[in-house]
Amino acid sequence: MSEHLFYQTRQTRPFIERSEGIYLWDADRNRYIDGSSGAMVSNIGHSHPHVLAAMQSQMQKATFAYRLHFQSEIVEQFAARLAKKAPLGLDKVFFVSGGSEAVETAIKLARQAALARGDDKRFKMMSRLPSYHGSTLGAVAVTGTPPFADPFAPMMKAMPKVRAPLHYLDGLDPNDPATAAHYLKDIEDQILAEGPETLLAFLVEPIGGASTGALVPPAGYMEGLRALCDQYGLLLIYDEVMTGGGRTGTYFAAEHFDAVPDMIVSAKGLGGGYMPLGAVISRNDLVEDVLDHGGFLHGFTNAAMPLAAAAGMGVLDVIEDEQLCARATRLGDTLFARLKELQARYPFIGDVRGKGLLLAFELMADAQTKQVLPKELHAHSKLVDIAYQNGLIIYSRRTRNGAEGDHFMVCPPLITSTAQVDELVGLLDKSLGQFADLYLKEVA
Ligand code: PMP
Repeated sequence: MSEHLFYQTRQTRPFIERSEGIYLWDADRNRYIDGSSGAMVSNIGHSHPHVLAAMQSQMQKATFAYRLHFQSEIVEQFAARLAKKAPLGLDKVFFVSGGSEAVETAIKLARQAALARGDDKRFKMMSRLPSYHGSTLGAVAVTGTPPFADPFAPMMKAMPKVRAPLHYLDGLDPNDPATAAHYLKDIEDQILAEGPETLLAFLVEPIGGASTGALVPPAGYMEGLRALCDQYGLLLIYDEVMTGGGRTGTYFAAEHFDAVPDMIVSAKGLGGGYMPLGAVISRNDLVEDVLDHGGFLHGFTNAAMPLAAAAGMGVLDVIEDEQLCARATRLGDTLFARLKELQARYPFIGDVRGKGLLLAFELMADAQTKQVLPKELHAHSKLVDIAYQNGLIIYSRRTRNGAEGDHFMVCPPLITSTAQVDELVGLLDKSLGQFADLYLKEVA
């Protein structure tokens, strides 16, 4: 434990020395494969020379100019390129420094857009259980992970949550239209119970992140959700903090569905770990309405920082030039197949799921009955620690409330080569074997 620094817990890790491509080296020269791109951040890998050069070039001009004092060419250009990546009609961009700030921005923009229309009764943000939307209080209020919110409950208004479509745990076929209909009925019931006229927006991870372990919604679910939002006057906001930046095989996961959101929230892969960066990309008319009615009451000192925009532009260049979206699909298929092979050999892998390079597997005591491993086993942290000792970084969660299970995100950078996928899977195989030998004997 460092004398002056603190994080969530007292856990310590080695000091970072250097990072390049998909690898990180600690101060003792141990090498690690970044099998989770940090926290699904480093989509283009580490120390990409193109981004370093783009940042260097901007650094020589201006690192920071307060946005209320100066416009910035690079920030304008970046906004224009991002708007092009978003679905048609979403072309107003507000830059921030990360995912939580972007979620806060979307919540406040949605509320102010409702006020601008004279609709002051709408204030409730609906979201899912489980879900994760960030660490600031507004984002915590919409996050469907109760332990993160409970201590702060007296300080905020409870926001309605509806169960995520956990079709694997529920034993439902994701391709059967009845499955989506089942979960959509839940949503509609809850909309009606809350009073549609009080609801502002539905916030959803189009493909689930760490909270659900790369949950792909059942066929027709996103389209049905869009229709419900239209019917009852809710805005639909996609939290693409984890899915954006090409991770699922398209720049935004929105492209996978026939359902256009009213806003997209982005971060993580947007700055790719080169600078803290987030954004909200909104429907034009919502922003115009707010600006016509007294302006947007919101702002962060470091929002729209030129150096961050230069880093983001550099990252976007790499994603486009190296065709990393297509690569995420191709490599994702390969990695998915390899994870399925591991599942065939390790019966305690209950599920493998995801899209592109947003992949996860779930550990179960019994895959047939969906019985989870005992909580006291702390499988999620044990396997991560074993993999870490073997030089592989993966990202895990034990989810609660409706999805009691240990799942592991396997989300390497999109620049990973096929040979490196082999290397990653080899280390994972070794780690799973060690985990089973050490901890699963008595469970089995
Ligand atoms: N939304 C989602 C879907 C996320 O995965 C995260 C971060 N894990 C956030 C929001 C919050 O982003 P940040 O940690 O950058 O504030």
